[in-house]
Amino acid sequence: MNREILINSAYIAASILFIVGLKMLGRQATARRGNLLSGVGMLIAIVVTLLDHHVINYTWIVVGLVAGTVIGLACAFWVRMTAMPEMVALLNGFGGLASLLVGAAEFLRIRIGEVTPANPGFTAVTIFLTILIGGVTFTGSVYAFCKLAEWLAGRPVLFRGQHGLNGLMLVATLGAGAVFAAAGESATVLAAFWIFVALALVLGWTLVMPIGGGDMPVVISLLNSLSGLAACAAGFVINNNVLIVAGCLVGTSGVILSIIMCQAMNRTLRNVLFSGFGAKAAAAAADGPGAVQGELKPMSPEDAFAVLEAARQVVVIPGYGLAVSQAQHAVRELAEVLERNGAEVRFAIHPVAGRMPGHMNVLLAEANVPYEQLVEMDAINPLMPTMDVAIVIGANDVVNPAAARDKTSPIYGMPIINAHEARTVICLKRGKGTGFSGLENRLFLLPNTRMLYGDARASLQSVVAEFKSIAAA
Ligand code: NAP
Repeated sequence: MNREILINSAYIAASILFIVGLKMLGRQATARRGNLLSGVGMLIAIVVTLLDHHVINYTWIVVGLVAGTVIGLACAFWVRMTAMPEMVALLNGFGGLASLLVGAAEFLRIRIGEVTPANPGFTAVTIFLTILIGGVTFTGSVYAFCKLAEWLAGRPVLFRGQHGLNGLMLVATLGAGAVFAAAGESATVLAAFWIFVALALVLGWTLVMPIGGGDMPVVISLLNSLSGLAACAAGFVINNNVLIVAGCLVGTSGVILSIIMCQAMNRTLRNVLFSGFGAKAAAAAADGPGAVQGELKPMSPEDAFAVLEAARQVVVIPGYGLAVSQAQHAVRELAEVLERNGAEVRFAIHPVAGRMPGHMNVLLAEANVPYEQLVEMDAINPLMPTMDVAIVIGANDVVNPAAARDKTSPIYGMPIINAHEARTVICLKRGKGTGFSGLENRLFLLPNTRMLYGDARASLQSVVAEFKSIAAA
């Protein structure tokens, strides 16, 4: 069998493993195996590519492999779970940069006569797309990383004529791309090349500017999708089938994920990208009719114990604060003592709780909370009036009744978990901090709500200690 057929067969096997692995990632029970399967697919793709006769020198590949392995291992050990979104942003950025460099290297190889493309027009267009999408992904992701890591202000940055300016830059980039693809006089092509490289890099930055706050995870997912599309375009440039397939999979899954997140927030993608949502929401919270007044009713861990001790139906609603305080093990312990006390315990999972899709599922799985106890929002809401106690742990926006009732609220229409319908609501948070949308929450002021202030993990441990001390007595 000739070498080309062997390589392409291995690429098809790798692509099948990617697709099956992705499918398995959709269910918690099969997610780990899915991840492993996709990893094996990637290993096959890398090994086969390294054996390809196009590789003429392994020195830099080995240097890259060693450096990448060391950096990857360091990240796996030291990056905290709550820092995952910025980590993903950075990885997307490197993906975009890699595609940009592939496109630029191919252009230079053609220029110095090292390769002659079979179809120069098609190759020029794919080089242009690789660099445009790769450049936007790179600087957009670096900016998103800086916002999430709080190196730069996380709020949306808005100025007059911003969208017009971005539109003009996009038109200029496409114009430079057209000149580049038309392949006229050599100096003109080179000038067009540098112009669209520079514009793509600036556009990445300016397109992410008006987005901030709670919308950043959607942007990360979109940038992830763009990094896939850049890789796909790079696959056409260097004629590599597995890069085209893998790029398409990343590109489409990123778009699907972005749309799912927008739907869960009851927003359109257009609104997320262009409305400067975070800035408006904060202003509405401060001045508008959504401003919340009233009295918060604190409780002690002993009070919380007394309420929970009598409860038979308990629902736990985790949110971003659970991740911040790393309270997943403490909450599993609480669920266990409640069950020993005769209560039925469920965990209600909102699709956008936390800061990334599946955030709560990952944390609870890490603490070995049984899958069967996890209930999705649509399934738990009809049961909510039958719940004796709802324990809201570091969740805010996803249980904000204004989303269902207050037409003036910027989050009006976002589906929520109806914690307020439980007989008693115990809210665990540190103080009066708002959710990521910047909005106040009336749930905390309702007559059936009590506030258990403090770091969520410490509060949960105190309540568990109460249960244990009674059991020991
Ligand atoms: P949230 O609205 O961001 O609220 C988190 C709450 O946790 C805060 O009110 C904070 O109050 C509390 N908290 C923080 N650290 C804590 C600690 N150590 N102990 C106890 N409490 C702590 O969280 P959410 O209800 O999970 O909502 C998620 C938000 O992210 C939504 O607006 C959603 O639209 C957005 N979002 C999520 C995704 C996703 O994929 N998951 C995607 C896009 C957008 P204190 O400061 O007073 O403690």
